[in-house]
Amino acid sequence: MSGAAVGQLAQREAEAMELDARDPLADERGNFLLPTDEAGTPLAYFTGNSLGLQPKSTRAMLERELDDWAAMGVEGHHDAERPWVSYHELAREKLARLVGAQPREVVAMNSLTVNLHFLMVSFYRPTRDRYKIVIEDSAFPSDSYAVASQARFHGFDPKDAIVRLKPRNGEHTIRTEDVEELLNRDGGSIALMMLGGVNYLTGQLFDMERLTQAGHAAGCVVGWDLAHAAGNVPLKLHDWNADFAAWCHYKYMNSGPGAVAGAFVHERHWRDGAAGLPRFEGWWGHDPDIRFKMEPQFVPAKGADAWQVSNPPIFSLTPVLASLSIFDRVGIDRLREKSLALTGFLESLLDSIGEHVSVLTPRDPAQRGCQLSIVVEGASRETHTKLREAGIVCDFREPNVIRAAPVPLYNTFHDCWRLASTLATIIR
Ligand SMILES: *Cc1c(COP(=O)(O)O)cnc(C)c1O
Repeated sequence: MSGAAVGQLAQREAEAMELDARDPLADERGNFLLPTDEAGTPLAYFTGNSLGLQPKSTRAMLERELDDWAAMGVEGHHDAERPWVSYHELAREKLARLVGAQPREVVAMNSLTVNLHFLMVSFYRPTRDRYKIVIEDSAFPSDSYAVASQARFHGFDPKDAIVRLKPRNGEHTIRTEDVEELLNRDGGSIALMMLGGVNYLTGQLFDMERLTQAGHAAGCVVGWDLAHAAGNVPLKLHDWNADFAAWCHYKYMNSGPGAVAGAFVHERHWRDGAAGLPRFEGWWGHDPDIRFKMEPQFVPAKGADAWQVSNPPIFSLTPVLASLSIFDRVGIDRLREKSLALTGFLESLLDSIGEHVSVLTPRDPAQRGCQLSIVVEGASRETHTKLREAGIVCDFREPNVIRAAPVPLYNTFHDCWRLASTLATIIR
């Protein structure tokens, strides 16, 4: 990288500040607690795709639950400001709007991999001929373990049963038409296709509508892991006709480490008249109107609620409510609008660094969320360390990927400029 290019990049700081000044969502940043360096300067935090930042509203809501517990004990189940007995229902409407679902199709429960397992109990129903599961070759490891163990649980050898989607030689992301071709060719042996709506490593956003349709045309069940999609991109799970989906709330959803996760079950699988899917059941999935008759016969709650097993960890669900209020107030479409601008700006800055820096994430904004996956030729790991020393928080994923996710709720255009100009200096 030439000195002139570094100089050019330096000049774009004013452009970044101008974009921030015109940003209609700029004030949202003030609703979050930003980690700082020792001097008190906010870090440029690009890891909202891994652990989102804490909304300022979360603490008071959590304290309320602690206070109600202290003051009421067991009676808080009914008498708390937000009664614990029906607590998960407080998430329902907002969650449904966030993922494009009917309210009864979604539930906040468990954690992500747990939800994948519970949903596969219902939706992975292999037969001798149709038993395979399709995932991305670069699926998140937990998803690989989950599907392999499900296959084994049903008596299949994962080496045979798990089909891993690979990019073409020399490419980084998966082509929709290649998945369609696989489904056309081998669909008869595939029981389930379960992909990350946004791939965690490359940041590729799949065409979920088209792939769901292609999977169904081949007779497969189609489920989505939305860990990197929920709160990042607009979703229309109901209209896309997805069979099921699951996601966590601690990444883009800013609900804290290990927060309660989310799940979606399309209404055609549970509404009146639908053949009952097998399910692992517990008392919280029981019809709440008669749950406390304490009878041994299970009567399912209406909708995705029936997949709940235990009463939820209130303190891990409270931050989800705090965060959903923010997303619901701002709206995912407005967030997406800013997100496209932020990520496009970061991309243009990275492009101007030129040689040694490449972006694995699709160039087409319609095929990505906010994350850009960056490779610094021969030096990603060292570069990541140096960025952190300069107050820029990205993460590093094996083998050589720096992930940077400018999120529209609290990142600024100036953050993007800090990242790119620091990167340029490091490379030089
Ligand atoms: C973050 C992530 C997980 C993490 O699983 P947990 O059960 O929440 O620990 C799983 N799958 C994907 C695709 C992820 O991105």
